[in-house]
Amino acid sequence: MRKFLLAAGAAFLGFPATAQAPEPPKLIVAIAVDQFSADLFDEYQPSFTAGLARLSSGTVFHNGYQSHAVTETCPGHSTILTGDHPARTGIIGNYWIDQSIARPDKNVYCAEDESVPGTSSIADKVSPEHLLVPTLGDLMKARWSDSHNVAVSGKDRAAVMMSGHNVDQRWYWTGTRFATDLTAVTPPAVVAKVNALAAAGLATARPPLEPTPLCQSKARVITVEGGGKSVGAGAFARTAGDQAAFRASPELDGDTLALAAALVDSMQLGRHADPDMLSISLSATDYVGHSYGTEGQEMCLNLTELDREIGDFLNVLDSRKLNYEVVLTADHGGKDIPERQRLAGVTDAARVDSALSASAMGKALVTKLGLPGPGLLGDNSVGDMYVDKRLSASEQQQLLDAAIAAYRAHPQVEAVFTAAQIAATPIATTPPETWSLIQRVRAGYYPGRSGDFFVVLKKDVTPIANTTYSVATHGSAWDYDRRVPILFWRSGASGITVEHSADTTDVMPTLASMIGLPVKPGSIDGHCLAEVPGAHCPPN
Ligand SMILES: [Zn+2]
Repeated sequence: MRKFLLAAGAAFLGFPATAQAPEPPKLIVAIAVDQFSADLFDEYQPSFTAGLARLSSGTVFHNGYQSHAVTETCPGHSTILTGDHPARTGIIGNYWIDQSIARPDKNVYCAEDESVPGTSSIADKVSPEHLLVPTLGDLMKARWSDSHNVAVSGKDRAAVMMSGHNVDQRWYWTGTRFATDLTAVTPPAVVAKVNALAAAGLATARPPLEPTPLCQSKARVITVEGGGKSVGAGAFARTAGDQAAFRASPELDGDTLALAAALVDSMQLGRHADPDMLSISLSATDYVGHSYGTEGQEMCLNLTELDREIGDFLNVLDSRKLNYEVVLTADHGGKDIPERQRLAGVTDAARVDSALSASAMGKALVTKLGLPGPGLLGDNSVGDMYVDKRLSASEQQQLLDAAIAAYRAHPQVEAVFTAAQIAATPIATTPPETWSLIQRVRAGYYPGRSGDFFVVLKKDVTPIANTTYSVATHGSAWDYDRRVPILFWRSGASGITVEHSADTTDVMPTLASMIGLPVKPGSIDGHCLAEVPGAHCPPN
C-alpha cells in the first residue's frame, strides 16, 4: 500500500483534526481475510506486530464459526454482513447446478445473473441477483439518506456478497485491474490512479521477499503428490506480468487496501451525516493457501505482509481522524497439504481418490446400470451432487440409490445425506461447535440450488487429486474449515478475549446495534454479541 500513499495519498492529508471520536462509529470497516482459519490466527497471533496486533487488542473471538458445511468463499462472505446462514442467503456454494435454466451451461456462478443472454458460468455477468437477503450496507442505505455502501476486494463474489444490492461503489480485481459491475455510477478518479499503479506493479518483475527468522524456520521443500510443483520454501519472486503469481502473493492485498484507502478519502467515508459502510475482502491468503499450503514459508511471509498492510491502512484512517469500528473475520478456514501434515503427525491426511469425483462416479454407474449420459453432473468429490434430470424419473431414482450406496461404501466417505433428509432437519440454534454433520449441511441447504444428495468426506481428506493448479483447499464440514477468528476493534479498545464460540452471522446484528439500526428479533439467524464494547444488544 505504501507505493500508493506516497504517490497520491499526500493530497488528502489536509483534514482538520476533530475532537475525540464520539459514539456511535461513523464508519464501519468490515474486513474478511479469505481462508484465514482460526488455526492460522492462533498460530501467528503472538508474532503480529502491526495491524493484526492492533485488532487483537480489541475483542477477540478465537472460536468464531462459519457454521455451515460448504466452507467456500461465496457462502462464507454471504453470512458476515447479512446475519444469515447460507440456507437463508441462498448462496449455497461458489457454484451450483440448475438444470432448469435456459442456457446450455447449467453451472451457475454464485455472483452472476445467468438470465443475461450470452453469459456462462465462466464468462459471467457479475450481479448480486442470487443473494436473497439484504446486507448491513443495504439496510443502512434504506434507513438513512446519507449512508454510503462501498466494497473493495480481490474477488468479485466477495465484494458482491459483502455489499449487496444498493451499493455506491464496488471494485474487485480481475487479473489485471480493479473493475466494477456498477456501470451506471461514475468511478472516482482515484480508481484509475490505483489501477495504473497496480498495472505498473504487475508489469514489473519482483525479487523474492526477505524471510524473517520465523518464516525461515518454516522453509522446507515438500514434494507434492498429484503432479504439482514442490512447495514450502518460496518467497514470492515473480516474473513480469505473471497474473497468477501476483494474486497468490501479498501484492494483491496491498493494492486492494490502497484502493480502499483512496476511496475513503475521495468519497469522504466516515464524514457524512449518517454512518458509512466499507467492506474489504483480502483474497491473497486464499490464493497463497491454495498454491502453497498453509504451513510453509510462503504463508508465513504472506501473513507477515498482511499484518503490515492492515497496519498501514489503519494508520491512514487514524491520520484522517475518523471515528471508525473495525471487524475482521474470514469466509472460511483452511487446511495444509496432506504431504506436510503427515510429516507433522497427522497420519491419516490424504488426497481424495479420483474415483469419487461426480464425473468418474457417474460414468462408472451409468456403465453398470446401462443408462445414457453422464449420470451425475459436475465434478465435485465432496458436497452437493446432482443427478441428470434428462433421465426418466425411474432412472433418476435408480441412479440416485446406486450413487448413494457407492459413496457410502467408499473408505474415504464419512456420510451421505439425501436432500429429503437434509430438508427434514431443522436449522440448529445451539452453539456451532456442537452441531452434527447434517446440521452443518442443513445450514447451507436451499431447495432448487442444492443437490440431490450431499457427500461428506472423512476428516483430513483433501478433495484435490490433481495438484497442477492447486495443492491445498477448504470446503469441508470439519472445524479446520469452519473455525475462524472474529475480531472487533475501535480506538481506545481494551483487550477482551472471549473463549465461548460465536457465529459469523453474529457480526451483522452486533454492528447494527452499535449504530442504532434496529434488527427485528428472529428476522435473521445471528445474535448480537454483548461482550463487544459499543454494542447495544436488545434484550433477549
Ligand atoms: Zn479458496
